Amino acid sequence: MASVFTKIITGEIPCYKVAETEDYLAFLDINPNAKGHTLCIPKKEVDKLFDLEESSYHGLLEFSRKVAIAIEKAVPCKRVGMTVIGLEVPHAHVHLIPLNTMEDARFINKVKFDNDELQTIANSIASQL
Ligand code: AMP
Repeated sequence: MASVFTKIITGEIPCYKVAETEDYLAFLDINPNAKGHTLCIPKKEVDKLFDLEESSYHGLLEFSRKVAIAIEKAVPCKRVGMTVIGLEVPHAHVHLIPLNTMEDARFINKVKFDNDELQTIANSIASQL
């Protein structure tokens, strides 16, 4: 069965898109740790990040770096952290999280935004790419 992220790629499920190339997609995490929490994925569905082909792995990190630099310009934060978990969605992805405190990296305290706010955040990151 297609992963929820593949359904986002095919348009079956909506997302707040931040960036897209032929091979990669970045969109806001729907349950963010912090404002601007973004996921970067390869369009090819592979469960575990370290099982990606080397070129796809390097391509995802290169793409994630560009998105992280845009996040840092668009969202006030001390720095952008990168986390890999994958326990919930079996489709390789990198979390890019604007960090102000260690709490922002812990996936325990969540922040809520309405649809308009999420669209505004996605647009502001996209405009920095
Ligand atoms: P993990 O697989 O543990 O790295 O976590 C998966 C992440 O994907 C979580 O932070 C979820 O909030 C996020 N997520 C799950 N479904 C969606 C969705 N439809 N759109 C955006 N983010 C999602």
